[in-house]
Amino acid sequence: MPVQKPISSVNDFVVRFANVNGSGSASANELFARSILRHGVPVSPRNIFPSNIQGLPTWYEVRVTEDGHLGARGGVDLMVAMNPQTWDKDLASIEPGGYLFYDSTKPMPSSKFRADISVIGVPLTAIANSTYTDPRQRQLFKNIIYLGALCALLDMDPKLIEQLISEQYKGKEKLLSSNVHALHLGRDWALQNLKCPIGLRVKKTDKVVALKDIRAEVELGYDVKLALGEAQRCLNCDIQTVFTAPLCIECDACVDICPMDCISFTQNGEEADLRQRLQAPSAHLDQDLYVADGLKTGRVMVKDEDVCLHCGLCAERCPTGAWDMQKYLIDMTYAGSSCPSKSRSAA
Ligand code: SF4
Ligand code: SF4
Repeated sequence: MPVQKPISSVNDFVVRFANVNGSGSASANELFARSILRHGVPVSPRNIFPSNIQGLPTWYEVRVTEDGHLGARGGVDLMVAMNPQTWDKDLASIEPGGYLFYDSTKPMPSSKFRADISVIGVPLTAIANSTYTDPRQRQLFKNIIYLGALCALLDMDPKLIEQLISEQYKGKEKLLSSNVHALHLGRDWALQNLKCPIGLRVKKTDKVVALKDIRAEVELGYDVKLALGEAQRCLNCDIQTVFTAPLCIECDACVDICPMDCISFTQNGEEADLRQRLQAPSAHLDQDLYVADGLKTGRVMVKDEDVCLHCGLCAERCPTGAWDMQKYLIDMTYAGSSCPSKSRSAA
């Protein structure tokens, strides 16, 4: 087989995390996606999981896309293979010339790898076990250790990740410092033992350039006042969220991602009572709720349209397409014989 040249790309590649559900990987993986945004580079992340049951496989894919593509590209340039159950499938999905990142604590036979990819082993379990005694901490910090190693491998700015961690654990000093410590454990190990960076790199976008791009602006350079002002505005007045109940598997991913807490899955009831049981208080009683039944558990999906930003994150995150963003069109009705022909326009 001819020697395959490793893929080389800046701000345009796909990373897929293969994890075991319930291993605490979700927040580390999200931190990874958000930290790329902090570099001023758009990302399109998505959860791919056949089930929300602990122990079953789960995948999280991050398309790093300077051009701001929203859809999946297909193929994987860097696979972070953390689930032995799905190893073969994960290995097969890597593009020729791509990269496999794995926990090398236990030696693996060469038959478990491919000759046309670059294999990057980091002894994550060994590092975690030699640092932490508590089994839960070992598992959780292992995820942050791989985030640190990826930071070195992809040439990311560790300060931006530290900043995100400090925002996440504001007021919880112990958690903050232990997460930052785990991040540096992984980063330092990679810098000392591996060739960093690899062919895939995240390059910071100049803030002035990034702020011109609506897809990049959300995570950049906003003070609290400006961020609150931005959160008040509707992002897409003419794009509506459309919910298809039969497609929903009630995984709650949209509830988790919604920045306004406007989606709730709950038992149905009288409106006054229902309004009391939503994720966020329903302050304006004159504003209608979007209520959909037909869910398998008999609950209803309730969305408070009053606070929805139309940001589309729910549709991006939904693994089944139950949320969709659709353009809203108004059919104007005219009276009388002299009226102009019917027009149709975006709202
Ligand atoms: S569009 Fe955005 S604000 Fe509205 S429900 Fe979806 S995630 Fe929440
Ligand atoms: S709408 Fe999608 S993301 Fe939300 S609970 Fe249903 S399947 Fe999960």
